[in-house]
Amino acid sequence: MKLINSISRMATLVKILRKEGKTIGFVPTMGYLHVGHMSLVKAAKKHTDVVVLSIFVNPLQFGPKEDFKKYPRDIKRDEALAGDAGVDIMFCPSVSEIYPEGYATYVNVENFTDKLCGISRPEHFKGVATVVAKLFNIVKPDVAYFGQKDVQQAIVIKKMARDLNMDIEIKAMPIIRESDGLAMSSRNIYLSEAERREALVLNRSLEKASALTVAGERDSGKIIKEMKELISQKPMVKIDYVSIVDTKDLKDISVISGEALVAIAAIVGSTRLIDNVIVKA
Ligand code: AMP
Repeated sequence: MKLINSISRMATLVKILRKEGKTIGFVPTMGYLHVGHMSLVKAAKKHTDVVVLSIFVNPLQFGPKEDFKKYPRDIKRDEALAGDAGVDIMFCPSVSEIYPEGYATYVNVENFTDKLCGISRPEHFKGVATVVAKLFNIVKPDVAYFGQKDVQQAIVIKKMARDLNMDIEIKAMPIIRESDGLAMSSRNIYLSEAERREALVLNRSLEKASALTVAGERDSGKIIKEMKELISQKPMVKIDYVSIVDTKDLKDISVISGEALVAIAAIVGSTRLIDNVIVKA
């Protein structure tokens, strides 16, 4: 596996690969890799010739009071994991090269970034869309892989790619969970043992939403109420939102018909966690 830090080296390599007719699969991450990230690598390996995994903790997508500084970073560990998973190129650009002094261009996907997580993280998706657009321009992938875990992110990136005529296929892959149901996340290491135990209620409440839908419940308000009641039994878990929305435009749904996205964000101790499930009426 090649480890590349500079944008120009990455661009040169991409040019060579493209000339050789190789297809490129791309997995953008913020590092501190786990099995969830590896599932994206696995999918990329299956469908493309060369897999590029990027690690970039993007300051633009963190709010002023968020965890940019303390976000877990361990390049040596990530290098070993990525190598074992069969990543061909690990691309780790520096903040100063991605955002040189005087940087001025941003991508804003209107009407998608002001919902769900966008309400409490108003600049977050602008930061995500901007860095992903830049990484796409550098890596020039044929296919880019995102996790359904960050469902709003995947939807925003799909919309950006469509709106800006990017010739890149965007794939959203299933959520990978720990054996007890907690969605894998680099942020899970922030949780104390007690917090981690209580955090399981997030997945349980989503399972409850699925079970209620299967049993015939169509009223989103009633499902959300039951989910909130369950979550409120865990004092360390503070709800940011529990929403049932349309999978295409993220608008609230009051009566479920067809497919709906049930999404949660909560602060557990001081760690913000998200999770979701798609239910079908
Ligand atoms: P992150 O490093 O947290 O920014 O995540 C990088 C990519 O991995 C994103 O597309 C995430 O949605 C995806 N990802 C993170 N956690 C999981 C998970 N538990 N299952 C599947 N994909 C995930």
